[in-house]
Amino acid sequence: MTTPTLTLNDGNSIPQLGLGVFLVEEDQTEEIVGAALAAGYRHIDTAKVYGNEEGVGRAIAKSGIPREDLFITTKLANDDQGYDSALKAIDGSLERLGLDYVDLYLIHWPVPSKGKYVETWKAMEQIKASGKAKSVGVSNFQTHHLQDLFDNTELVPAVNQVELHPKFAQGELRAFCDQHGIAIESWGPLGQGKYPLLEEPAVVAAAETHGKSPAQVVIRWHLQHGLIVFPKTSSPERAQQNLDVFDFELTEAELAAVDALDEGLRVGGHPDET
Ligand code: NAD
Repeated sequence: MTTPTLTLNDGNSIPQLGLGVFLVEEDQTEEIVGAALAAGYRHIDTAKVYGNEEGVGRAIAKSGIPREDLFITTKLANDDQGYDSALKAIDGSLERLGLDYVDLYLIHWPVPSKGKYVETWKAMEQIKASGKAKSVGVSNFQTHHLQDLFDNTELVPAVNQVELHPKFAQGELRAFCDQHGIAIESWGPLGQGKYPLLEEPAVVAAAETHGKSPAQVVIRWHLQHGLIVFPKTSSPERAQQNLDVFDFELTEAELAAVDALDEGLRVGGHPDET
């Protein structure tokens, strides 16, 4: 089954489900990404700071999959913020990935203490114009950071990748991004395993009803809310399982039961402090 795609505000399409490789060791990355590509994944989410762009690149090169069938995201590291340094940083990522372009390039964190995200975004506009990234976006931007971009730059980000899982559903930010045509990508979609999300009765009950795993139910919750999602796993079996979510659908009542878990529980860094 082919992964469904969403159309971004710049007209490009993105597979709604992918594989994230945060905390995948560089020496394991080639094998894990290679297995995921063989299993049918076409969307990989990495970042310069994950230290595994080269492994992702080797897996892509060995896969034999036509470049245009893949969707590869990487992210500008906080230390590379600034107009000139951002223009250089994309070249480094492309070299490590062994690619001529990425499908999506994101500012990893706003880092307001540096005061550079607006000029960095101007470089991102330039990077998109150069074709080195087909789409550009941001990550961990709150509404006030986005408003700063709207007030000072031309291009609206294609996506905002933020922490988002059932106990941290980000309603206000989602509504704001929706209103501005910015697609949301959920990072930590399974709560990073930092709380027992997969044991929640609402999740377990839906899993039993559909004969699926709790993780598959949570992935469906993201997909049915129109979110883009790329759970991380180093296990080929789990990678396969996480992709096998297109043969069932949560009911409105099941979705609402998972929605009701929201309690504003942030498990990762705060965007104004990281
Ligand atoms: P996640 O919510 O995907 O959780 C990963 C954990 O879930 C791992 O411990 C894994 O073993 C477990 N898991 C995966 N599949 C499972 C399954 N089928 N059954 C049971 N457990 C399962 O957390 P994450 O890795 O932090 O987030 C996903 C991706 O989001 C990352 O790999 C990365 O690409 C991206 N990310 C981005 C940022 C950012 O600042 N932009 C921050 C964190 C993560």
